[in-house]
Amino acid sequence: MPILGIDREKCINCDKCYQICPMDVFGKIGRLVYVAHQEDCMCCFLCDIDCPVTGAIIIDGRRSRPIPFPY
Ligand code: SF4
Ligand code: SF4
Repeated sequence: MPILGIDREKCINCDKCYQICPMDVFGKIGRLVYVAHQEDCMCCFLCDIDCPVTGAIIIDGRRSRPIPFPY
């Protein structure tokens, strides 16, 4: 469960993480994207790769990042 949350100061609510997550970890309240089902995260990091704002998605730094899938 490396995805801890979304930094509200950085997030621009572009929706990309919400759209790309294969596990539907993210939820929305209006335009606001948030981490709704952290326990379902499978650590693919597609959300972080697709996010246009560095550091907007807060990742558990205690775990090393695996090599992302090649798509
Ligand atoms: S790391 Fe993968 S499974 Fe976890 S929230 Fe991001 S896109 Fe979803
Ligand atoms: S992809 Fe990044 S900037 Fe866009 S909604 Fe998700 S956390 Fe916010």
